[in-house]
Amino acid sequence: MNIPAGHGRTFSYLCCSVVVGVLLFLSGSTIDLRAGESEQNQIVAFDFRIAGDEMRTRVVIEFEQQPEFSHHLLASPHRLVVDLPETIFGFPEKAAHPRGLISDIRYGAMAPGRSRVVFTAVGPVKTEMAEIKENEAEGTFRLVLDIAAASDAEFSKLVGQQQWDAPDTAPDAGVVQPQDGDEETFTVAVDPGHGGIDTGTRGRNGAQEKDITLAFGKTLKTALEEVAGVRVVLTRDDDRFISLGERVRLARQHDADLLVSVHADSFRLRGVRGATVYTLSDKASDEMSRELAARENRSDLIAGLSLEDEQDTVADILIDLTRRETEVFSIGLAREVVDAFDGQVNLITNPHRSAGFRVLRAPEVPSILVELGYLSNVEDEKLMTDPEWRRRTAELLVAAIKSYREKIGGVSN
Ligand SMILES: [Zn+2]
Repeated sequence: MNIPAGHGRTFSYLCCSVVVGVLLFLSGSTIDLRAGESEQNQIVAFDFRIAGDEMRTRVVIEFEQQPEFSHHLLASPHRLVVDLPETIFGFPEKAAHPRGLISDIRYGAMAPGRSRVVFTAVGPVKTEMAEIKENEAEGTFRLVLDIAAASDAEFSKLVGQQQWDAPDTAPDAGVVQPQDGDEETFTVAVDPGHGGIDTGTRGRNGAQEKDITLAFGKTLKTALEEVAGVRVVLTRDDDRFISLGERVRLARQHDADLLVSVHADSFRLRGVRGATVYTLSDKASDEMSRELAARENRSDLIAGLSLEDEQDTVADILIDLTRRETEVFSIGLAREVVDAFDGQVNLITNPHRSAGFRVLRAPEVPSILVELGYLSNVEDEKLMTDPEWRRRTAELLVAAIKSYREKIGGVSN
């Protein structure tokens, strides 16, 4: 297998190249015009090539600068994860089309200063080579990964041997306004689903779930902050990956009285549209909800996280009394949202549903997951990408939260 170097440079790469060239020039001059720390440390991946078959697959990623990288294998499913400094992925999406031993490729931001590429393999694999080679003629750098098929035993041994302790999300994740310490403060954790390397689902006209959830989350935050005594914690306010566990942890850290996770769904039947409000249950209310929860719970897998610590089942979670009480409050909130949406926002039939969503499992924080609509439906996609629709829908959610708060007497949990 032989992949020629230096081909396939695209227009976007040329643009990046110029921008980076200007930045480098400026940073070397006496006038300091650098926009900020992270921009200074960004590197540019300008080309991606993959070739090979089910025996051996080679991946070549071309960089403007020499990347510091590390790589490791993960099981269930078999994955190869490559960690990089903050990277601008400037190659066309279709260049990273999976083939050979690789069935899926994801890349994107993990946290400030860190990016990641996750290769899902068709079976057990090993890396026979993972090296940076300098292209002296062009002054660029090439990461070459030679991936070969391995036996189950070989793969398990390699996974067991590797040392890897990179944190999965930045410790400072979570965005919160300064707190006044008032006990009457009602804290709402607003959780825009997906982000960074995990794009979520994609609309018929190209809208990405992670962008819609972030835009809606910010709008909801602004609307909620108009209400006296309400404080908002956003689990993310930019395009970064946050694990499901970290989202739950952030809500608990900030003593949230509620968690509202925002998503946009997709379904194989394109006619299906409308919003749905989900609460946690060990047994899904219906097959569609079960499938959706399974899809949403894959977020951590997409980002190349190991799920070893996440073996607890939702059934275990619902055992103790606190959790039962939380469940009752969560259902109360879900009903308020359905009532507020009714007649104002399209709702699917039986709009309050339940399933085993990992992001809803904080034991003491009543939690709901709102699917704003279906990106697989063109009309819904159009609405969700409309800032005015998002503003009106956020106002309805605020009304529901206010009504919920009044009914529980405004008392924090
Ligand atoms: Zn989602």
